[in-house]
Amino acid sequence: MSHNLFSIIRDRISDPGRTFIRTSDGRSYTFRQAWDLSARIARTLSSKGLVIGDRVAVQVEKSPEAIILYLACLRAGAAYLPLNTAYTLAELEYFIDDARPLIVICAPEKLNAIEPLAARHGVFSTMTLGVDGEGTLLDESESAEPHYDPVFVEPSDLAAILYTSGTTGRSKGAMLTHANLASNARTLVEYWQFSERDVLLHALPIFHTHGLFVATNVVLLASAQMRFLPKFDLSLIRKELPSATVMMGVPTFYTRLLKEDWLNRDNTDHMRLFISGSAPLLAETHRRWTEMTGHHIIERYGMTETNMITSNPYDGERVPGSVGFPLPGINVRITDLDIGKPVSTNTPGMIEVKGPNVFKGYWRMPEKTQTEFRRDGYFVTGDIGYVDEDGYIFISGRSKDLVITGGFNVYPKEIESVIDEIDGVEESAVVGLPHSDFGEAVTAIVVPRDGSTLTETDILNRLDPLLAKYKLPKRIVFAQDLPRNTMGKVLKAEIRAEHQNLYK
Ligand code: AMP
Repeated sequence: MSHNLFSIIRDRISDPGRTFIRTSDGRSYTFRQAWDLSARIARTLSSKGLVIGDRVAVQVEKSPEAIILYLACLRAGAAYLPLNTAYTLAELEYFIDDARPLIVICAPEKLNAIEPLAARHGVFSTMTLGVDGEGTLLDESESAEPHYDPVFVEPSDLAAILYTSGTTGRSKGAMLTHANLASNARTLVEYWQFSERDVLLHALPIFHTHGLFVATNVVLLASAQMRFLPKFDLSLIRKELPSATVMMGVPTFYTRLLKEDWLNRDNTDHMRLFISGSAPLLAETHRRWTEMTGHHIIERYGMTETNMITSNPYDGERVPGSVGFPLPGINVRITDLDIGKPVSTNTPGMIEVKGPNVFKGYWRMPEKTQTEFRRDGYFVTGDIGYVDEDGYIFISGRSKDLVITGGFNVYPKEIESVIDEIDGVEESAVVGLPHSDFGEAVTAIVVPRDGSTLTETDILNRLDPLLAKYKLPKRIVFAQDLPRNTMGKVLKAEIRAEHQNLYK
């Protein structure tokens, strides 16, 4: 039996004549057309001497052909290595040097800059793929036969390497196996009850685990369909929403949509499901979404290294502010930050995870891999959270975010949640800034709602009776917005850098 994820997907599609993917400008592929093109591309890749485990690094704009290229890599046993389209040449050089791909595929307009760099690092071939499928990859594949037997792989063979977003330190390549991806996709299809009747509104980037694996693998495995938008664009969302049944988004999708006056119960009534992840969804956003549309968003939690770990239930209460329960077959435990022993209910600690979803390790970083796993196989996520008496998991923040002020541990998320409840506050981010007396001073960056007249003193007065003294921000700094990456994660390192002299 083959463990190749491509074979697993193909075997589940009963009617390959159905549409698999359609772009907002009307370009579409049936499953059969996608299989045929992926076979042709797999032949082209093999003709470059590609063997199982070779890396194919891809920095291209979002297109159906880019997804089909991913399928071709699975088919050919290559490790697919997608790269953020925003990476500069200097950043690209780091990834190419680290990953040593056999083949690089880039946007046609970047070929002149990337080809010499790739050649310097021993890349055998640099090909191009544009948003409309133009470029040498498809030109070379055109005449190839549309047949290609998927390469036989073991469950532990690499399907992809995804570099972590690297908001702290060097970006690390997470090695994901065919079994990791297949098990998580199967679990999510069942848990979220995906079927071939579903049409997913896809507005996420496809160089990240969310848009590539959670969204695409789930659609493929469920024989469902995608409406493929080039990016999150409010007018395109409005146009495509009527033909969709499910939307997966990062929290900013939801906060932006909530500002649209066309959003209401009538035009979301036909939707089966809204899912959010990759960054914390404010409880307030969850509630406002329910008020506006009648839908309870399913919030789920995962990371590049582990695929999805938890989700709120499909049937059952979807609790605002919680990331839900561990997914079936996945073990989660919360441990004390100092001694590593499991903690009791409602006590925050390190979230650790074990299961078939957890990656194989960091590419060419065996020591780093070793330090991130416990001896009994649990992966240390770096996220801090707790489990309540009903088993719901709540995330309190990242361990690297933890503020230590005068010897006390402060979890920024706890303070942010209290600030966000204040009338007139849109959102907030709490960080620790260097302080001669406290070591770090708890500091809140607050984005006020339009028309709000809140002052620093107003906010501090509101927090005073609600939080222990040591948790109170020493200062409140007002800002127009919070810096975020494309996945909606607040860039706390950037905030800390900007305000590092606040107490000096
Ligand atoms: P990435 O590897 O880019 O997907 O980032 C993974 C990190 O995103 C996790 O370790 C969490 O810190 C954060 N994250 C993902 N989903 C959620 C969520 N639902 N709530 C809070 N944080 C999340």
